Amino acid sequence: MSKPSIYGLTFEQLTDWLIEYGHKKFRAQQVWGWLYQKRVKDFAEMTNVNKDCLQLLEEHYDIQTLEEHVKQESKDGTVKFLFRLQDGNLIETVLMKHKYGYSVCVTTQVGCNIGCSFCASGLLKKSRDLSSGEIVEQIMNVQHYLDGLGQEQRVSHIVVMGIGEPFDNFENLIDFLDVVKDQKGLAIGARHITVSTSGLADKVRKFADVHSQVNLAISLHAPNNELRSQIMKLNRAIPIEKLMDAIDYYLEKTNRRITFEYILLKDVNDKKEHALELAELIADKRKLSYVNLIPYNPVDEHGQYQRSTDEAIRTFFDTLKKKGINCGVRLEHGTDIDAACGQLRSKQIKKAK
Ligand code: SAH
Ligand code: SF4
Repeated sequence: MSKPSIYGLTFEQLTDWLIEYGHKKFRAQQVWGWLYQKRVKDFAEMTNVNKDCLQLLEEHYDIQTLEEHVKQESKDGTVKFLFRLQDGNLIETVLMKHKYGYSVCVTTQVGCNIGCSFCASGLLKKSRDLSSGEIVEQIMNVQHYLDGLGQEQRVSHIVVMGIGEPFDNFENLIDFLDVVKDQKGLAIGARHITVSTSGLADKVRKFADVHSQVNLAISLHAPNNELRSQIMKLNRAIPIEKLMDAIDYYLEKTNRRITFEYILLKDVNDKKEHALELAELIADKRKLSYVNLIPYNPVDEHGQYQRSTDEAIRTFFDTLKKKGINCGVRLEHGTDIDAACGQLRSKQIKKAK
């Protein structure tokens, strides 16, 4: 029988669990240090942890449950990993190199049920949520890869923008954030972490209540309900007004700046009139928001969509700027290696068929 990943436990959960089995609290600190500071890959390497405790850990948990299936390295320093889970499912994780450090894009579900019409991840229905351990382990595997380069580089930023809808796996997402932020461990700053959601309004409120200082990005992609429902069927259930109400609640509660993501699809949502409508829609949140314009990465199965022309992107950007909206165009990474999340996985699955 396969065992769960030890990385799924928050420090508090690990402590409680060890105490329950009669161990002292300091053991949890030792184990935590071995996992996240020394970053061993085997319990046996935890040399100052006594035999009983090691045996207990080994009986109940594994350190490594993901297996590297494919690794693609891009010329610009982007590395894309395809991991095989214990049940055989494949997930994707991307490491990106920036001037300010290394960021990792993690997957939260196997497939996605939201089914946005432009997205490679949504091509396959969700078969299950990832456990918190499987999400943390993606970061650990990438950190182990960096450790192996011997340059003392660390993962400094995380974007929860891989396959899946993170707010549809809320509890595991929160545990994952708890682990990677832990000061005694990876200590990745909350302000260096961004979670992206397609717009599950009730969870946006819940996220505000957790008030974790983690950044929130909303996949908006259209300035009105008609267009948004056409691109994202989720909008029929949760229209823009409902989403904006939840965002207002979030902004009020956290006073943190929110990001709106907007994929530019040629002749669909990239006209000047759309930019004007978008500026109007978020005018009241101008000071507490940022629009991230994303050049579309074409997906074979979604042939109806193409990338906007550079000129259309520029006009869209200029129009928003003139209206006083903070915005930028997302830089692309690893375009030579199936860049958009979900694309490598969907290609590998097709190959296997
Ligand atoms: N499910 C969440 C997070 C994962 S998707 C969400 O939808 O927000 C992360 C971001 O990548 C989203 O903004 C999504 O719209 C975008 N994306 C998906 N497919 C893309 C593609 N082919 N090209 C560019 N961006 C894409
Ligand atoms: Fe799911 Fe996000 Fe892709 Fe939509 S864009 S199908 S929510 S992963």
